[in-house]
Amino acid sequence: MGRQYYIAANWKMNMLKGESVELAQGLVKALKDGKNKYMIAPSFTSLDAVAQVIKGSNILLGAQNMCTEEKGAYTGEVSVHMLKDLGVQVVILGHSERRHIYGEDNEMINKKVKLALAEGLEVDLCIGETLEEREAGKADAVCEEQTRKGLAGVSKADMAKVTLAYEPVWAIGTGKTATPEDAQAVHAAVRKVIADMYDQATADAVIIQYGGSMKPANCQELLNQKDIDGGLIGGAGLKVETFEPICKTY
Ligand code: PEP
Repeated sequence: MGRQYYIAANWKMNMLKGESVELAQGLVKALKDGKNKYMIAPSFTSLDAVAQVIKGSNILLGAQNMCTEEKGAYTGEVSVHMLKDLGVQVVILGHSERRHIYGEDNEMINKKVKLALAEGLEVDLCIGETLEEREAGKADAVCEEQTRKGLAGVSKADMAKVTLAYEPVWAIGTGKTATPEDAQAVHAAVRKVIADMYDQATADAVIIQYGGSMKPANCQELLNQKDIDGGLIGGAGLKVETFEPICKTY
């Protein structure tokens, strides 16, 4: 078997329940012969309905966030147990919108990562620098810090359930994509960090997705890069017509 990619869609706060069900139905059909790993992350309010649609398919159910705590007086939050109760298999953590709009820091994200893994969920941990940080030459350093702090205390065995998503903040939803070479350079640097934190085998095995305005027109050259193992897709993940070609590029 050739290289297997991991292509995921983060639907963000875009779809009502009926729209989510319709999109999920379309994707089940479109991707049934796909040979890659696929995940879709609807809003909390659509998880239950989408779970019924994708049950038994080759698409994993993801959530977009999760509370640091397991239970109690945390108004408006959603716990890991609530996600598991609905059939969620993966949780996206540390998305740049959580970091930059809602002020989530590495410590909080790390707490969520450890809780999700302890409860058996897969984690898709997002990292990425802002434009200011990139222009200051700090892209690798920011990604290293987010990786080290986000994964602090995560065992080597649990790394089998961790995916990293490199998403330069300046490329998300802006139409600007990192050049394949720039993205590759950060992916390679992050893989080195994993080798240093764990070992070379763990670094070789970890999946590092690229995210940031990935679409059918630019996904191939990104996926051709040695250290780009998949994509975390926002805007292009909202329609079968744009998500399917990315999923089936390889
Ligand atoms: C994202 O937010 O995960 C993302 C990559 O968004 P977009 O594809 O819209 O840039």
